[in-house]
Amino acid sequence: MAAELAYLRPTTLSEAVSFLETVAGAQPVAGATDVYVGIRSGKHAPAALVSLKAIPALGHLTPDSPTDAYEGKAEGGTADLGVLIGGVVTHGAVEDSEWMRRHFPAVHQACSGVGSRQVRNVATLGGNICNAAPCADSAVGLLLYDATLILAGPAGERELPLSDFFVGPGETRLQPAEILKEIRVPAPGPRTFAHYWKHTRRKGVELPLLGVGARLTLAADGTVEVARISLGVCAPMPTRSREAEQVLEGKKLTAELVKEAGEVAAAHALVRDTWRGRGWYRREMVRVLVPRVIGLSGALS
Ligand SMILES: Cc1cc2nc3c(=O)[nH]c(=O)nc-3n(C[C@H](O)[C@H](O)[C@H](O)COP(=O)(O)OP(=O)(O)OC[C@H]3O[C@@H](n4cnc5c(N)ncnc54)[C@H](O)[C@@H]3O)c2cc1C
Repeated sequence: MAAELAYLRPTTLSEAVSFLETVAGAQPVAGATDVYVGIRSGKHAPAALVSLKAIPALGHLTPDSPTDAYEGKAEGGTADLGVLIGGVVTHGAVEDSEWMRRHFPAVHQACSGVGSRQVRNVATLGGNICNAAPCADSAVGLLLYDATLILAGPAGERELPLSDFFVGPGETRLQPAEILKEIRVPAPGPRTFAHYWKHTRRKGVELPLLGVGARLTLAADGTVEVARISLGVCAPMPTRSREAEQVLEGKKLTAELVKEAGEVAAAHALVRDTWRGRGWYRREMVRVLVPRVIGLSGALS
């Protein structure tokens, strides 16, 4: 007979950390859309699940609407205060957020494409990041905006850039009994353009064959001040193409430069064959999609 699986439902962060520290084989769980798949397939066999969903301190999406008071503090109509995303905020909540759609369009697009609306209603950005799949849509979107993670554990809290969090497929820098408390996304500043493209074989519920995102922040004269190119399924983890970013930064944005960025991103992508697609096809599509997402971001117009 299968061993019984204990289910714990703490209401504070410290209680959750304490459960994870003291209950042998305990694993945190949010929407469980990855956890239950892992348990059913026999990949994971936790002795206890510590649900994070009843902890109010993890549920905030701030701000969640573009109120006048908040926008009054913003320069040139852009979000100069960024956004704070609690550890159990769902993709559905981001999809419904006008603030996210207007000021962080690539994260909004990435979250809106995860699974189906039923999946998005329960699946969290925190779970997507901590599951650390190379294809994780919202992680690839968040990499564009230099997001950082607030991790809470037995030794207190620490902040880590999202780009330093991933170690390999399913592996992160989370320490034992640590919980992702909050994702902090700084304001990208005025003249920022961004887009995320989830490349799939069909429109329905499907993990990406490839995820490609771009975020460009331009100076007043049109020079690229900050370039971020992020890729899913092009490395053992969600990743940035720093080589392509270097091609773009400090230069005037032209169609030729954008094409070169696509070629450089493709040349450095660590693609591989999977049952969803061949490595050569992924590389070719990186070359095509990097210029496409930059075009769709509006930065070239
Ligand atoms: C039908 C279906 C379609 C899907 N489609 C997509 C898709 O299109 N794109 C995509 O990227 N993913 C997709 N997924 C995968 C999954 O939905 C996402 O990765 C989701 O974001 C996971 O979130 P969750 O809250 O369900 O995580 P959970 O399953 O609860 O947890 C995932 C992992 O993160 C850990 N964890 C969760 N929250 C925290 C926290 N706050 N602190 C520390 N550790 C934590 C858990 O211990 C576990 O290891 C799909 C899944 C299904 C079942």
